Amino acid sequence: MKCPVCGAWSLVKTTRESPTFGHTRRRECGNEHRFTTKEIFIPQEEIDKERRSRLENMRERLESI
Ligand SMILES: [Zn+2]
Repeated sequence: MKCPVCGAWSLVKTTRESPTFGHTRRRECGNEHRFTTKEIFIPQEEIDKERRSRLENMRERLESI
């Protein structure tokens, strides 16, 4: 992922695994900005639900024009 400070591509330095809270990754970009990201598991069901509601919103907006 890109560095939130300068937009350069970042590399993962270390990954810490936690069974309950997902993985935490320490990253560093080419300009030596350090930041941490967290990776969580999202069930496919939830992604489908979100996609469906987004489509419905779009349809509603189109119909209201
Ligand atoms: Zn940076």
